[in-house]
Amino acid sequence: MIVYGKTVDGETRCVHYGTPKDVIAIKFVCCGRYYPCHLCHEESETHEAEQWAITERWQKAVLCGVCSTELTIDAYLLAERCPSCHAQFNERCRLHSHLYFEG
Ligand SMILES: [Zn+2]
Ligand SMILES: [Zn+2]
Ligand SMILES: [Zn+2]
Repeated sequence: MIVYGKTVDGETRCVHYGTPKDVIAIKFVCCGRYYPCHLCHEESETHEAEQWAITERWQKAVLCGVCSTELTIDAYLLAERCPSCHAQFNERCRLHSHLYFEG
């Protein structure tokens, strides 16, 4: 799985978000590319980021950087850790989930 943007390691951390818990990448619905964060998308693409519609939450659009499992948006929004490898997710991501997901 290719993760675009300014990654700093193999677990999807980037120059913007690099704490131990920052281990997910999000597939952007506008270009179908995985980016570690909205800033990576903004700095690498010339188009505006679009958000996943609420009806698209069954789509696999979140990548665990530790084990490379793809989660559905639904599963990700309900999970505090990766269901596959149990890596803890950054709960602060929820504060800006509206940048990625409608609703
Ligand atoms: Zn895009
Ligand atoms: Zn970033
Ligand atoms: Zn995982």
